Amino acid sequence: MIVQLQNEISPAQEQQVKNEVNLAGYSLREVKTASQHYYVCIGSKLVDLRRIGCLPGVRDVHRVTDINQLVSREWRVKDTVIELDEDLHIGTGNFTIMAGPCSIESEEQIAATVKFLSEQGVRVMRGGVFKPRSSPYAFRGLGIDGLKLFSSLCREAGIKIVSEVMQSDQIELMQPYVDIFQVGARNSQNFTLLDALGQCEKPVLLKRGISGTAEELLSAAEYIFSNGNESVILCERGIRSYEKAYRNTLDLNIVPILKSRTHLPVVVDPSHGIGIRRHIPEMALASVMAGADGLLLEIHPQPEKAASDGAQTLNFEEAEKLFAQLRQTVALRQSFKL
Ligand code: PEP
Ligand code: MN
Repeated sequence: MIVQLQNEISPAQEQQVKNEVNLAGYSLREVKTASQHYYVCIGSKLVDLRRIGCLPGVRDVHRVTDINQLVSREWRVKDTVIELDEDLHIGTGNFTIMAGPCSIESEEQIAATVKFLSEQGVRVMRGGVFKPRSSPYAFRGLGIDGLKLFSSLCREAGIKIVSEVMQSDQIELMQPYVDIFQVGARNSQNFTLLDALGQCEKPVLLKRGISGTAEELLSAAEYIFSNGNESVILCERGIRSYEKAYRNTLDLNIVPILKSRTHLPVVVDPSHGIGIRRHIPEMALASVMAGADGLLLEIHPQPEKAASDGAQTLNFEEAEKLFAQLRQTVALRQSFKL
């Protein structure tokens, strides 16, 4: 059960609501976000919602049967749309392309990508500076200095940044320079990191774990929301299966499933999802028809020379062709009213 409180509720009124909730046999977790105040109430007894709904200071009360409460569509029917700028939003009614290299490598590489994205009308650039790598000998990113460079070039061009945070103590360091924090697949259930991101002001793009279920992804998002951050974007990036013909199995089934169970935006990363450069376009277009609110795509001026994930990275010519096809596919989807 979720009790939404009025922002001007008095301490005495709060106490009264808490007493009533406890009396009904529910435990209570208080959640304050940038604009809202909630009590998430956990219990199994049947409560007469009217008893709580009519208390002074209560705005609304909702019965939620899902384990994950705040992210559930059961109480918030309207989709969450995240504002990155006055005219730049992520969520239903928008289709947001976030493109850029796997790793930030050099000033030249950033500048070339920023120029290309600006020409293409793409307003969010991805790029990792703290890289989770399977091998400790692989390139692990330029770190905070790389992020500062990335940020200064993007800010000048009016481009927003999404970049991966790997541990809690990087949040404060990165916050001034990123617009969206990415949580990678390997950290999808790093609960201390999720708790900490719940307490920051920036949106979080949360990737599905390598063997994560839809329920686990939603629980991870609930960690962030219940700590006070309502701006969470879910990302399907492929799961590990028995199939060896491609890097991961892009599970597009999860897109409509998530969209029906949560009000949060859902995006797809076909680059990691299939991991094969020449098949990225097909999977990107299929993601649109599956209902994705946007894409995370790896592109690079010279994929052959990329420090990481070159084999799944499009060059600018390929990306330009795909962006045009995506625009057509998004229009087609809209005409179907899917
Ligand atoms: C990435 O986006 O470059 C990345 C490392 O992704 P994932 O966490 O999905 O492997
Ligand atoms: Mn990558």
